Amino acid sequence: MHTLPKLLYDYNALEPYIDEQTMTIHHTKHHQAYIDKLNGAVKGTKLETMNVDEILKNINDVPENIKMVVRNHGGGHSNHSFFWQVMAPDAGGEPHGNVGDAIKHTFSSFDKFKEEFMNAGLNRFGSGWAWLVVNNGKLEVYSTANQDSPLMENKTPILGVDVWEHSYYLLYNQRRADYLKAWWNVVNWKKVEEMFKKAGK
Ligand code: MN
Repeated sequence: MHTLPKLLYDYNALEPYIDEQTMTIHHTKHHQAYIDKLNGAVKGTKLETMNVDEILKNINDVPENIKMVVRNHGGGHSNHSFFWQVMAPDAGGEPHGNVGDAIKHTFSSFDKFKEEFMNAGLNRFGSGWAWLVVNNGKLEVYSTANQDSPLMENKTPILGVDVWEHSYYLLYNQRRADYLKAWWNVVNWKKVEEMFKKAGK
């Protein structure tokens, strides 16, 4: 059975950038709902005990009758589990280390990268995610619709932001740009560096 991962910080820890109520609902209601629907779909199959990221990497092997549910709700489970980890209190700032170098090398500067990443999030019509991924050894910014995961396209996410309205509406109303601007203050670059190193292997 798939289960809700514990948050490594308190629900109010990302304030003032992300409010306690949003974090609480997002984690205990939205994320939990993805997990419940995923569990309902995979009950009695080998996908019940398989790591959700592995399921998504092999999405084409999922039986046709449950593929869409697994894509949406397994994607939701994986994306949110990832999202909680790339945020932290007392975070933000500029990335250092290997990932900082790679970002500057790929996008010419950290500011240019931020601009491209924010545009990916802003231009995602409706609901979805903006991502920084490793694709064939190279960094790439793009966005996915709904709960689609980069893992389904053989890309490894190292940073991602939820642009579904449920992730910002209580504090920012419809102002997705303000949310995305504030969100940089909670990016856990230490974790991103860790993910980047793992993706290189
Ligand atoms: Mn969400």
